[in-house]
Amino acid sequence: MAEVLLEQVGKRYPSGFEAVKGVDLAISDREFLVLVGPSGCGKSTTLRMIAGLEDVSSGTIRIDGRVVNHVPAKDRDIAMVFQNYALYPHMTVEQNLAFGLWPRRNYRRRWQAWISGAYRRAYRDESAQIQQRLQQAAALLGIEDLLQRRPKELSGGQRQRVAVGRAIVRSPKAFLFDEPLSNLDAKLRVEMRTEIKSLQRRLQATSIYVTHDQEEAMTLADRMVVMKDGLIQQIGAPESVYANPANRFVAGFVGTPAMNFLTGRLESHAEAKELYFHWAGQRVPIPAAAIPPRAPRELVIGIRPDALGPQPQSAGSFQFRGQLRLQENLGDRRDLFVDPGEGPQVVCRCLPEGPLVEGKEAVWGASFERLQFFEKGEAGRRIEFDS
Ligand code: ATP
Repeated sequence: MAEVLLEQVGKRYPSGFEAVKGVDLAISDREFLVLVGPSGCGKSTTLRMIAGLEDVSSGTIRIDGRVVNHVPAKDRDIAMVFQNYALYPHMTVEQNLAFGLWPRRNYRRRWQAWISGAYRRAYRDESAQIQQRLQQAAALLGIEDLLQRRPKELSGGQRQRVAVGRAIVRSPKAFLFDEPLSNLDAKLRVEMRTEIKSLQRRLQATSIYVTHDQEEAMTLADRMVVMKDGLIQQIGAPESVYANPANRFVAGFVGTPAMNFLTGRLESHAEAKELYFHWAGQRVPIPAAAIPPRAPRELVIGIRPDALGPQPQSAGSFQFRGQLRLQENLGDRRDLFVDPGEGPQVVCRCLPEGPLVEGKEAVWGASFERLQFFEKGEAGRRIEFDS
């Protein structure tokens, strides 16, 4: 397996559009790294440059220490799994799997021998080896019964399994996945995601995986790379990115429902150690100790929906009034949409019990420790206590 290193890698398309802007990334041997971001952020372009399917405009890509900028895709010894499976429709599953295993010399002759049924006789040793690797991969993925079928006779999940199988039979240095589960329905996507994760653990394979789905990224990644507009916003373990987002974009992108952002202004109280947060036409008291010392007056407070709930007015927490507009019951939990009076609604995720009446005003709150602070603006940086 391999280490993959990107140094200041950039991509400018002939149209002049700069899709990737100086990306630095070090993917360790056996690591499962996930590139995630909204559509158009440059994650597929980055992956395709690593695969050799797209030229690099600037910077360097190394695989196992070797600069591969000008090495053709077929000589990089990496395997890629695509969203659309990219299986050969006229070949059986077995042929699709064997395809990548034949030596490239005399390829056409091998192909003709395969079609005519003479391959096993003509290339006995090679055939036995290929057969063995193919059976191992098929067993690993549970597709032994499908080997004689053609892709059109398979379900979406089975096709994707074959596509993964085709990647693993070659024992490449690294696996690249480009949104491999996007064409599957929600339930199958979750199943396949678990399979890919356990397969990666078993094979101990360096893997780079692209998705726009932050939940998929969170569940699969050893480390995730959040991208926006061709730039890396943050790299880190999923739990650390979730708990300590670098900026407002990452905070809003990671986590469902998305973090609430309350844009307001801090004002000090005449004599007390308390400040007021003016937001949505309300004046919310907040102790000075609960605010980072360097917080500017104009700022954004971020609150995860699961940190918020209806509260008795006496609790020592960040509290505001709001009218419950709508509740969505999801069985084991409930999303409440609260109108604070002015500005965007606030979302609160809580347990399904307790009577809550739509249209009624109530007090809502979150403990002070659950508040996050950001500079103003869509890309405002998070303000830390020790910064
Ligand atoms: P998606 O999830 O939609 O695939 P992505 O993050 O993978 O998005 P890329 O496919 O890497 O995005 O594309 C990044 C940007 O580069 C997009 O704005 C896209 O329109 C642009 N782009 C991609 N291919 C080309 C091309 N051949 N010529 C010009 N611009 C391109």
